[in-house]
Amino acid sequence: MKRIAILGATGSIGSSTLDVVARNADLFKVHALTADTSVDRLLELSLKHAPRYVVISGVPESSAIVRRFAESGCVSEVLFGRKALEEVASDAESDIVVAGIVGAAGLAPTLAGAARGKRLLLANKEALVMAGGIFMDHVASRGAELLPIDSEHNAVFQCFPHVNGPSSVRKSLRRVLLTASGGPFRSTSIKDLSAVTPEQACAHPNWVMGRKISVDSATMFNKGLEVIEAKWLFSVTPEQIEVVIHPQSIVHSMVEYLDGSVLAQLSNPDMRVPIAHALGFPERIESGTKPLDLAQLGTLTFEKPDASRFPCLGLAYEALAADGTAPAILNAANEVAVEAFLSRRIRYLEIADVIRSALDEVDICGAFELPAILDADRQAREVARRNVTRLGARA
Ligand code: NAD
Ligand code: MG
Repeated sequence: MKRIAILGATGSIGSSTLDVVARNADLFKVHALTADTSVDRLLELSLKHAPRYVVISGVPESSAIVRRFAESGCVSEVLFGRKALEEVASDAESDIVVAGIVGAAGLAPTLAGAARGKRLLLANKEALVMAGGIFMDHVASRGAELLPIDSEHNAVFQCFPHVNGPSSVRKSLRRVLLTASGGPFRSTSIKDLSAVTPEQACAHPNWVMGRKISVDSATMFNKGLEVIEAKWLFSVTPEQIEVVIHPQSIVHSMVEYLDGSVLAQLSNPDMRVPIAHALGFPERIESGTKPLDLAQLGTLTFEKPDASRFPCLGLAYEALAADGTAPAILNAANEVAVEAFLSRRIRYLEIADVIRSALDEVDICGAFELPAILDADRQAREVARRNVTRLGARA
């Protein structure tokens, strides 16, 4: 029986993970669940899954909340604060940590899990984008097992030969082809993009996800983060990572080898598939997804992304080339810009402008130590907030 800590249990990744865990109750036991502020949902989940710990990281410690959990029949110990996230991620009694917190807030607890040598199911791509070098060092030196559950990276991982080891993969690999749906605005005229609303941006054609990643999918910033994520996970150069638009979201990514063979992983667009793969690896376990009906789908199509429609993808490649703290600056500015777009303070097309200014205005330095990365993150947020205010005042 493996014990699991789910960071970000109340979110979309958290729900999909808990669904897979419940289908495989003979294999997994929930050890810890965390939420930022969704106390009601966390209480519901803790009554259902009876973890040893629940963490509420974004609400001040409250005896009233502790009492409420106890009086509702919850058996879990209730912890508060950001440090508690790191404690449950590194708890000696858990085997698996699911990194399902959104944004830079997931970095410290995810690193804590890596430092304790856990099997780490990584959804929180922002952590890897910000601190990839430090992260991968922790994984290697502490014997952690990093399994991507971002659907594209999980697909790439599945297309690697697991018998011959990573160095033989690197020698024989030509390209990693990351697929992207193109989001809700793949064919909207560029003129109309200036007026799109948060509701339209969050209405993804194939996936149901949290609001931040939904906006990132619309701008293709998400794919940019995934390009950087792929560099760290698979030790490939930026030139070896290509993005191809595949609107049906059935082929989750591909790997091309030197002999011209291209391997792909296919499934319905359902996050339970990569999560079940990583939970069970190297065994296969039930995910609950429907069988794939290719005859009913009929056609799978592929196209090149249009750089003028998706400037955020180009900005991510630029940050990847600049290296050092540039990806952390890119990520932080985007978090501020998306938040401002979701609260209607800036327009959709201004998200890219806010990121552009942060990359131009914040000095880029080496990303060998966490303080330098956190400082770049802080400076980028400051610059981005200033630009959001300026754009908001003009509107
Ligand atoms: P979500 O918004 O649905 O859930 C986020 C979770 O993190 C919630 O449990 C929330 O309480 C918690 N959280 C939010 N802010 C926090 C903070 N400051 N401190 C601590 N906890 C906080 O997000 P999601 O869609 O589940 O995405 C989670 C992560 O997984 C993101 O990094 C996203 O890019 C990645 N991801 C998601 C999907 C998907 O299908 N949803 C797919 C691939 C990757
Ligand atoms: Mg993805």
